[in-house]
Amino acid sequence: MIIFSGGTGTPKLLDGLKHILPHEDIHVVVNTAEDVWVSGNLITPDIDTILYLFSEKIDRNKWWGVENDTFHTHQALLDAGFDEGMMIGDIDRATHIMRTELLRNGLSLTESIRELCRYFGISAGIYPMTDDSVSTYIETPKGMLHFQDFWVSKRGLPNVTDVKIEGIEKASITPLVLELLEKEDNILIGPSNPITSIGPILALPGMVDILKDKNVVAISPIIGNKPVSGPAGKLMAAKGYDVSTKGVAECYAEFLDVMVIDSKDTSDVHEIESLGCSVRQENTLMKSVEVSKTLSESIIRIFDELNTSR
Ligand code: GDP
Repeated sequence: MIIFSGGTGTPKLLDGLKHILPHEDIHVVVNTAEDVWVSGNLITPDIDTILYLFSEKIDRNKWWGVENDTFHTHQALLDAGFDEGMMIGDIDRATHIMRTELLRNGLSLTESIRELCRYFGISAGIYPMTDDSVSTYIETPKGMLHFQDFWVSKRGLPNVTDVKIEGIEKASITPLVLELLEKEDNILIGPSNPITSIGPILALPGMVDILKDKNVVAISPIIGNKPVSGPAGKLMAAKGYDVSTKGVAECYAEFLDVMVIDSKDTSDVHEIESLGCSVRQENTLMKSVEVSKTLSESIIRIFDELNTSR
């Protein structure tokens, strides 16, 4: 199975899926449009969350960073009057240093992540969506902000008038991801932000056309009329989408087969189905790994059904 992922909701699902499928059968294509250079190192927030998940290092309270990490280097920088703008843990920083060193030695981002997987003993496939430089900018009445500046430094507070993904038209899907997409028919769009996490993956030239020939299942990151966490609601509204599961289905309407919405979501199912997909209701609020496992089993059943009805 190929899973498209951002940094919070989808890793929670993968936390269950990794108990159900052999890790070699899990291929995660990850958003890189939130990547940013900080204190000399390239930080790939969504990829790092997936790396820490599969190497059992993840901080499950925050869903970013390493559990029980310390912040001595960050504090030393602050004490010297240098604010790096983002809380970076010491062990987390070691990952950033290794990746940046690999990049400086001439490896592509894909190759550097493969090396990190080797260092961490990860057998699942973790693939940056592109090796090209792509950055999400949030347009506010006071000007453009890099996504990390908007979300981390400004805590998501500024009004949002638009979202732009700089460099996306010239970016390419990596050869490895293209190869995977040729072999694999089942694509899961995890419950991640449809605008800034999944949006950039879908905006890569050629991606939507590839997905039209696949079985595509998506899990809504919106339950009722708000996201479980993060700025997805504000960003969907800025892009003109309804903040609802129907709005999410609209983002994926061109290729979506099944939309999985929460059992407690009272959206009009027929309205969503009028977009050309079918709707399944499951418990999608992943408060524990048990919920993630049950949801993962349901997803596998949905793909089985799609494959037998093809
Ligand atoms: P960001 O935090 O908005 O930048 O985006 P991410 O793609 O990294 O992940 C956050 C998304 O995951 C949000 O839109 C959340 O609503 C969603 N999410 C987080 N936890 C859950 C959960 O338990 N269930 C569901 N369905 N969505 C979740």
